[in-house]
Amino acid sequence: MEKKQSSSQASGNPSDYVIATMGSHTALQILHGARQEGMRNLVVCKKGTERAYKSYGVADEIILVDDWSEWESIEDELIKRKAIIIPHGSFIAYMGHDRVKNMRAMYFGTKEILEWESNRTMERKWLQAAGLKLPHVFATPEEIAKPVIVKFHGAGGGFGYFIAKSPEQFYEVKNRKYPEQNDFALQEYIVGVPIYAHYFQSALTGELEIMSFDKRYESNADSIGRIRAEDQLAANIHTSYTIVGNIPVVIRESLLPAFFSMGERVVEESKKLEAGKGLFGPFCLECIVTRKLEIFVFEISARIVAGTNPFTMGSPYSWLKYDEPMSTGRRIAREIKFAIEQGKLAKILG
Ligand code: ATP
Repeated sequence: MEKKQSSSQASGNPSDYVIATMGSHTALQILHGARQEGMRNLVVCKKGTERAYKSYGVADEIILVDDWSEWESIEDELIKRKAIIIPHGSFIAYMGHDRVKNMRAMYFGTKEILEWESNRTMERKWLQAAGLKLPHVFATPEEIAKPVIVKFHGAGGGFGYFIAKSPEQFYEVKNRKYPEQNDFALQEYIVGVPIYAHYFQSALTGELEIMSFDKRYESNADSIGRIRAEDQLAANIHTSYTIVGNIPVVIRESLLPAFFSMGERVVEESKKLEAGKGLFGPFCLECIVTRKLEIFVFEISARIVAGTNPFTMGSPYSWLKYDEPMSTGRRIAREIKFAIEQGKLAKILG
């Protein structure tokens, strides 16, 4: 009903619309990118978290709420302003899939794809069908026959993940530290370097772009090497992967064709899923590259990732393509602007 109403009122003027997001995650570059493309923006912040958006002066409007449970109560206001919501990791985590699905305001991206990325079985089916190399998954702790990374479902930012190389070791850590947690995945631990590839699939041109790459700065996985192995054992430190920040990476140039091909296959397969218009806009393949240069993919994020944050002014790759600063946030705004101008807004809304 609402959607019909908004498309019948569709305007070809980008300044009639507002790019809107939740104040967290990648909101700074989304807002900044909207500005760079000459579009208005707004950010919805939980009271007390608005400081950065004020300080950097990137927001045209800041709407404050006491709690994310109030989102629906401001939705009519967002619809009235012709707001186009840009989802990011925190938005999806705080709102939950059902609320995102039922959202009436305009939404950039395919809502149905969120279920495919968040359900481990569905995600694996999708990535396997795309011909990607995935780490082996052990169905039960009893089957652990080589080092595994234990991932608890819904663990924010790698919190609580641990490594085990036998069923005994698994139960020792699990029962001692996480006795209540029974929803976990046991993934083969791949020895190599983590590389997060940031893509943008244009729904307007059909082109897949590689925007940038990052690696994460994780506590305490990235600090353990600062002390001697002997001291690590003495201190009984278990490796954990809480994300603290993101570090830009430029990859070996000869790996680029493989990364392009992987991204294209994932997009192609997404069209065969029962997931609306399939995957478009920003997404990320989370990979480990081994010493034999094999690329394993352990996860997909079907939306903008925080690893794009170091590239407010673009990356070496986006610089090559655009010859002007092009963050992923700005790329989103440009897609929206072109869609409005070309009368193709329906193509990019989920
Ligand atoms: P996200 O926030 O993207 O949903 P997350 O932060 O909860 O994910 P992951 O990104 O899945 O967690 O993993 C956290 C850390 O564990 C990363 O450093 C990643 O490189 C590492 N990791 C994940 N899976 C594997 C694997 N199969 N082998 C080796 N390392 C892995």
